[in-house]
Amino acid sequence: MSKKLSIIQLGNPILRQKAEFVEDIHDLPIQQLIDDLLVTVADANGVGIAAPQVAVGYRIFIVASRPNLRYPHAPFMEPTAMINPRIIDFSDEMLKDWEGCLSVPGIRGLVPRYRSIEVEYTDRNGNLQQQEFTDFVARIFQHEYDHFEGLVFLDRVESTVDIYTEQEYQKLIVDRF
Ligand code: ZN
Repeated sequence: MSKKLSIIQLGNPILRQKAEFVEDIHDLPIQQLIDDLLVTVADANGVGIAAPQVAVGYRIFIVASRPNLRYPHAPFMEPTAMINPRIIDFSDEMLKDWEGCLSVPGIRGLVPRYRSIEVEYTDRNGNLQQQEFTDFVARIFQHEYDHFEGLVFLDRVESTVDIYTEQEYQKLIVDRF
């Protein structure tokens, strides 16, 4: 049975630790963790979640872009577990756009990210995957990857002027779309 896990918040030192590589993807607790992360991110209306956010220091994240209450304009994709992911190449072009984080509730920030990235990861069946992501999905990948390095999106904003409350951000996107 999959269960919803509790998400730790900014200030918890686990969010500032480096995550470890997963050795055996077929290990039952790892597969259970993936199922639980899938349930947890869907329940929280997130578009991604990394294992360190549920206080587990492994290099596993879920990318689950889809339109929802927190990101009404997100593109749809099948929620995908990525294990030991790496960025193997990236565009020169960077884009600034809004991000939030389930571990940083109520806050949004304008964050510069590579516009497109080429990535490699192991899927939950143990197969090595290579893919290219652009724009919003590339942004999610880079955001989740940062959680493995003990970073949050606030570490990447260029100025504190680029930090908004959720309420002010909601006003902004209503005007923008
Ligand atoms: Zn996050």
